[in-house]
Amino acid sequence: MNRKNLLDQLAKDHTLPFDGFVELLAHPDEGLQAHAASLAVETTQQYYGNKVFSRGLIEFTNICQNNCYYCGIRAGNENVQRYRLTDEQILQCAATGYQLGFRTFVLQGGEDPYYTDDKICRLVQQLKHNHPDCAITLSIGEKSRESYERFRQAGAERYLLRHETATPAHYHRLHPPSLSAENRYACLHTLKELGFQTGAGFMVGSPGQTPEDLARDLLFLHKLQPEMVGIGPFIPAAGTPFAQEPAGTLNETLFLLSLIRLLLPDVLLPATTALGTIDPRGREKGILAGANVVMPNLSPKSVRKKYQLYDNKICTGEEAAECIVCLTKRIESVGRELAVDRGDNVRYVKMKEDHYCV
Ligand code: SAH
Repeated sequence: MNRKNLLDQLAKDHTLPFDGFVELLAHPDEGLQAHAASLAVETTQQYYGNKVFSRGLIEFTNICQNNCYYCGIRAGNENVQRYRLTDEQILQCAATGYQLGFRTFVLQGGEDPYYTDDKICRLVQQLKHNHPDCAITLSIGEKSRESYERFRQAGAERYLLRHETATPAHYHRLHPPSLSAENRYACLHTLKELGFQTGAGFMVGSPGQTPEDLARDLLFLHKLQPEMVGIGPFIPAAGTPFAQEPAGTLNETLFLLSLIRLLLPDVLLPATTALGTIDPRGREKGILAGANVVMPNLSPKSVRKKYQLYDNKICTGEEAAECIVCLTKRIESVGRELAVDRGDNVRYVKMKEDHYCV
C-alpha cells in the first residue's frame, strides 16, 4: 500500500499494523507530512472545534533523586541551583493563573522526597478548595498504587507520566539501572485503573531511537488509550551524559503529532515548550499539525531559569501574564482561540454524563 493510503487508513481505523507505522516513519516526506497534518487538523476540529486549551504549569521543585541520562535536573548534575517552592508560593501561582483564565494547574517536579504523600495531598486539597472549578494535574513521577490512590482521593483528576519509550532496551539506554521500563508502564496502567485522565508520551529523536521504537510507541499508546499525550523533541542538556547528542527535529515531531492525533482522535495533545524551543514558531506549527493544548509556565520568574530540563528553554524571562498575552496572539495567528476551560477529554466528559444518568 502506498504511504498516503496508509495515512488514510490510519485516519479511518485509528490504528495500523506495526509495519505500516514503520513504513510511514522510516520514509517521511513533505507531501506525506502535509497530508497527515491536514487530516489531523480536520480530526481535531471534529472533536474540539477551534478551541486550544491551556494548562498552567507550576514547576514546584527541581530537586530530583533520579538520574535520567537526558534530563537537565538529574541528581548528578551539580551545576543546577536547586529550589523548592513553598506552599504559599504554589497557591499564589495558581491564584494568579486563575485570574489569567487558567482552569487547570499542573504540578510538575523532580522526584523530590521532601514532598511526602501527605504534603502532596494537602497541596491538592488546598488548590481544590481555592479553585473548585479547576482540574488539578500531577506530574511527579513513579509512585506506589497507594500513593496514587491517595492523590486521587485528595482531588487530583489527572496525571502526566510519559512512558519515554515503549521499547525496554531503549528505555535502559536512556535511564540508569535503578529505573525500569516495566515499572514505568505498570504505573501508567495503575493510573488508568484509578480513573485518572492519564498522559503518556515520549521524546522525539532521543539518543538511539529508531523508526521501529517509534512504531512501538504508537502501538503502546493505542493499547493504553491515554486521555493526553505529551511529546516534544529531545534537546541536549548541559551537564548530562547526552549533552553532545543531536536534538530531535521539528519535522519529525510535527509528523508524530499528526500521527498521534489520527491514532487517538480525541486526545489532548500539547504543542510543548520543547517544540517552541527548537523553532521560534514551533508551537504554532504544532497546532497546525494536530496539537490542541498549550502549557505556559506559571512558576515565579525567579526560579524559571533553574528548571532547565534542556538547554535554551524559552519563556524563562517572562511573567505569567506576559506569557498568556504572547500565547493568545500566537494561537490567534493560526486562526484558533484560547479557551477559558478545564479542557477535559471529551471521552471523560461523556463518561461523567453517562454516570449521572444512571
Ligand atoms: N519527574 C517527572 C517529570 C519529568 S519532566 C517524571 O519523571 O515524570 C517531564 C518530561 O520532560 C520528561 O518526562 C521528559 O520526557 C521530558 N524531558 C526531560 N529532559 C528532556 C530533554 N533533555 N529534552 C526534551 N525533553 C526532556
